[in-house]
Amino acid sequence: MNSSTTKTYGVTPPISTAAPTEHEIAMNEKLIEELKREGSFESEAESQKRVQVLGKLQSLTEEFVKTVSMQKGMSEGMAADAGGKIFTFGSYRLGVYGPGSDIDTLIVVPKHVTRENFFDVFQKLLRKCPELDEIAAVPDAFVPIIKIKFSGISVDLICAKLDIPQVPLSLTLDDKNLLRNLDEKDLRALNGTRVTDEILNLVPQTIVFKHALRAIKLWAKRRAIYSNVMGFPGGVAWAMLVARICQLYPNAISATIISKFFHILTKWSWPQPVMLKPIEDGPLQVRVWNPRLYPPDRGHRMPIITPAYPSMCATHNISASTQKVIMGELSRGAVLMDDIMMGKKTWTDLFAKHDFFFRYKYYLAVYASSRGTAEQQLKWSGMVESKIRLLVNKLEWIDSIELAHPFVKEFDKIHYCADDEEAKRVADGEQMEGATTVEADLEKAAKDEETKGDGEKTEADAASKDEAEEKKKIVVYTTTFFIGLEIKLDPKNKQLDIQWPCKEFYDTCRSWPEYDEDINCICVRNIRK
Ligand code: ATP
Ligand code: MG
Repeated sequence: MNSSTTKTYGVTPPISTAAPTEHEIAMNEKLIEELKREGSFESEAESQKRVQVLGKLQSLTEEFVKTVSMQKGMSEGMAADAGGKIFTFGSYRLGVYGPGSDIDTLIVVPKHVTRENFFDVFQKLLRKCPELDEIAAVPDAFVPIIKIKFSGISVDLICAKLDIPQVPLSLTLDDKNLLRNLDEKDLRALNGTRVTDEILNLVPQTIVFKHALRAIKLWAKRRAIYSNVMGFPGGVAWAMLVARICQLYPNAISATIISKFFHILTKWSWPQPVMLKPIEDGPLQVRVWNPRLYPPDRGHRMPIITPAYPSMCATHNISASTQKVIMGELSRGAVLMDDIMMGKKTWTDLFAKHDFFFRYKYYLAVYASSRGTAEQQLKWSGMVESKIRLLVNKLEWIDSIELAHPFVKEFDKIHYCADDEEAKRVADGEQMEGATTVEADLEKAAKDEETKGDGEKTEADAASKDEAEEKKKIVVYTTTFFIGLEIKLDPKNKQLDIQWPCKEFYDTCRSWPEYDEDINCICVRNIRK
């Protein structure tokens, strides 16, 4: 290694500027080998395909802007100069994507092109492409999105309009004045790219950062602590944590960064925030994370702050319990890393699978079910999933509950029930002998339903429908979420009473505007091992 960095990255000077030792370089080679064995990297040919897809999307974007510009009365020359540019964010931009990753893509357009144009004109252009395999537009999402599969690659497309007449290819999004006069949806759409671009600008050696982040993402997924919605750090938060360690050891190699990651973060004095640069002020009337000013920000237990204006806390979902779980995993990592560096353990040990389903004596199973379509269940279970954190927070209030640990993944099933009674009991989470139960892929089932709506019937759909009809059975979808409980029962009163948190949770779920008591059901059950 001859790259020696002296510039200060971040809010403090580095801890060490030492270059890697031979031993560290050898450990790093083993790490890369292990990541390859784990299937973390995709082939060069696949990566080339991604580059081609992005090239095609860039020309489509220019055609889109030009078409709209001409529709609005511009000359052909002016319309061509209006430009349009694509940016990426997410794992692709960070360089940590694997074979199954999507490409998160932002389309930036000048001020005379609207979001409606994106869903109308741009969508039509996409539909004309022979490379298009699948397309689904969600214009009323929190961040309006078109999801496509293009040449076999999944791409999420979002659009942002800037208050400038032209968007040249040379445009970058780092200037915060570009955020002036934008609506909330445009601001949200720009945020992902602005944050990832900043993270990459703030790390000393990109390649060291990328390999270390690949390892940390794999570790966090294996240990089941990767999920923003369940109260753990998500992709951006893990990226910022790794980036901060890279700043503190600017000349270190990935293997060393990973070891320091565990050691520094186990000793971090939370809730002191992790920041990649000082928080900036800016031109908008928007809130920037500030615990001195805003009481909710003081409640953040492990704040990790995004570097691009307006800075936000990426980990506001972390609860007392998930913090304990994360800290436990970081400690495990610190111990293992010492052994790995000494040759007593291997990288494979670091990436070992979690033991969530063996760890506790008590579990809660939350059943969200629908007697309807997969599409309805997808919406209902998604809503219930977003409320699991509230249930966890309420459980934490109960004296005898020391820890309420939500599992990061849900389990989807389809049941074919003989009668009403059986359907009701299945929806309540009972295991029924008579009912036929199969594991379900809700996304796929919902897609199949949609295709059927277009007059086409897929094989899978026909099979499941026929099975249900032939046997005159009622179809019930269930999604199960698990929460592990650590309990310290009062010797005088050996009952665990969770009625209050459950009731509150039921009420919250049932107040969902689309809730229909004939279709949706929610139920929490105790499981004791
Ligand atoms: P993968 O390799 O699995 O695609 P990823 O890090 O790219 O991993 P995505 O799920 O594709 O993860 O999300 C990419 C980015 O989109 C996130 O980093 C985040 O900025 C944004 N994002 C995704 N889902 C949400 C959400 N529910 N709320 C807010 N932002 C989101
Ligand atoms: Mg992605």
